[in-house]
Amino acid sequence: MTKKQALRRLASLTGGLFATQAAAAAHCRRHGRPCLGKLIMSTGVAADTLLLYAVLVPNFPLLGKVYHHGNRNGNKVALTFDDGPRPPYTGQVLDALGAAGVRATFFVLGENARRYPEAVRRIEAEGHRVANHGMDHDILMFASGAAALSQVMGAEAALRQAGVRDPALLFRAPHGWLSLPAHRAITRRGYRVVGWTKGVWDTANPGADRIVSRTSEVLAPGSILLLHDGWGGISAEDRSQTAAALPAIIGEARSRGLEFITVEEMMREA
Ligand SMILES: [Zn+2]
Repeated sequence: MTKKQALRRLASLTGGLFATQAAAAAHCRRHGRPCLGKLIMSTGVAADTLLLYAVLVPNFPLLGKVYHHGNRNGNKVALTFDDGPRPPYTGQVLDALGAAGVRATFFVLGENARRYPEAVRRIEAEGHRVANHGMDHDILMFASGAAALSQVMGAEAALRQAGVRDPALLFRAPHGWLSLPAHRAITRRGYRVVGWTKGVWDTANPGADRIVSRTSEVLAPGSILLLHDGWGGISAEDRSQTAAALPAIIGEARSRGLEFITVEEMMREA
């Protein structure tokens, strides 16, 4: 399911719920029970709002536990890169991380690992962790457990085939949207679901300076930062601004006494 399809389905679902509640309230009013009608409307609207919130807001705990920050009293932060690997950007990111001696966590797409096996092997060879972002960026907002598992296990198989020896058992859902059955099925397989503390929206290509300043705003102990070294599908996008922003981001963090670790290390520390 694409992002557009998922949002359309969510809109029709909540629209349908709202229409049903409005009809029920109108029925009650016609039969002289205005208070009940109001009650149905207000609880219904509250339920709709909660549903929308739970489905749309990444890290919302109603649909299963999502790890989205580490110890807020320590001095550690984690850099994460999604949607890769994609030459030449993954290489640029790795060069910047390597030059600074920083290790990060890459949530890669199975289909990109298939396309660029050398790039994904290089991530692991340079001491970073290769984690799972599903096969093809399919949106799992309404996914069954079986559909979600096929995304995650398909990506894991693609990583192993590409030569990744030890894929991290961490899964980040595309856009952070994950149904309850999907969450259950994935965690039963031993995966932990990972979110992020705050998005930087580097995919909008606002300029490396803006990426640095936005990142600096959210840099705090325990933060998991979300950046991108790739994209799904066959379109061509540019992630060079993200790579270019890294030296300044790392410098800023270090000037505040923060150290970079992987998400797994952050989980062990907490
Ligand atoms: Zn993604």
